[in-house]
Amino acid sequence: MSRYEDFMKNVYIRRFPSGAENQASKGPLKKAFEDEQDYDQSPERMERLKKILKKTEIGRETLDFLDQKGSELIFEKMPYYGYFSPEENIVALSPRFSDEDLAITFIHEVRHARQDSIMTNTSSDMTPETILKNGFLIEADACAAECVFAHQMMELGDNSIFEAHQKTAYAPMSTAFEEEFEKSHDWNKAREAAMMAWYDLPVKPGYADQYIDFMKEIVKNNDSADFRNEMDTKKMAQMLCLDSNGECYIQNPKKLESPEKLNVSEKQANTMMQTLKTFIRRQNRPAERLGLDKVYVEHSDGTYTTVREEMKKAKAKEKNNAAVRNAANGKGGR
Ligand SMILES: [Zn+2]
Repeated sequence: MSRYEDFMKNVYIRRFPSGAENQASKGPLKKAFEDEQDYDQSPERMERLKKILKKTEIGRETLDFLDQKGSELIFEKMPYYGYFSPEENIVALSPRFSDEDLAITFIHEVRHARQDSIMTNTSSDMTPETILKNGFLIEADACAAECVFAHQMMELGDNSIFEAHQKTAYAPMSTAFEEEFEKSHDWNKAREAAMMAWYDLPVKPGYADQYIDFMKEIVKNNDSADFRNEMDTKKMAQMLCLDSNGECYIQNPKKLESPEKLNVSEKQANTMMQTLKTFIRRQNRPAERLGLDKVYVEHSDGTYTTVREEMKKAKAKEKNNAAVRNAANGKGGR
């Protein structure tokens, strides 16, 4: 098996690859593994990165947290920016990217480490609704921390982080941060605006795919299938979306369960329905108990239904088809 195929087979949900979709969508994933170029993975480079980070409050906070947790910070060649692995207690950065990109990635990945120290992210005891809600929230929150970092660097007269961020698929987030900060001069309002902008990014469906794959794994692995823990949105935000004073920076967490935020595509809804149908039948657990009445489906015409409603529709259609078949058999049979 090629390294590429091996990688594709072993990408694991708990590794939170950053920017994986972005890189993949540009197509160089396969090429990345064939690329033999040597990148600077020296301890000097790591020190240089830390020096950039230490300039800002959020950078210092993040480095301190990593120290306390005893996590290791390493370079690892990979086609995406970096990852955090709770199992190995490692934050890995890909040396193929620029110092600015890696400083941003560092803030992002250690934010995941911090989230994971508060509550286990995307675990099999969560309902499918909570897996999606939690997955979206931790990504949006980690990305919003990047925008705080970019802004703090700009306040020091250094625009390089902001400019690097503006070149990524996440640019609308740093734009939203700056626009809100310009208006209100309120750090938390700006951070919330950045966080909410995540939900409209083209990378979001890629993350939903990962979480749905995770559900598939849970169902396949019969013993670990649980799906019982439905977490309250407000509680989740108050636990995870914290500023440097430990205050929740989200004014209205209810927004995170709105159709515009907590949604999947029609295709993803179908996969979820197929995946969970077996589980529902096997465990005799109604769809509501899995939170499927709270996960929205975004249709191509801009309207929303819920996964639960789609399941009901599919069931009615099935019944109707069966009735038509029976009627046809009845007519022609005797
Ligand atoms: Zn992430």
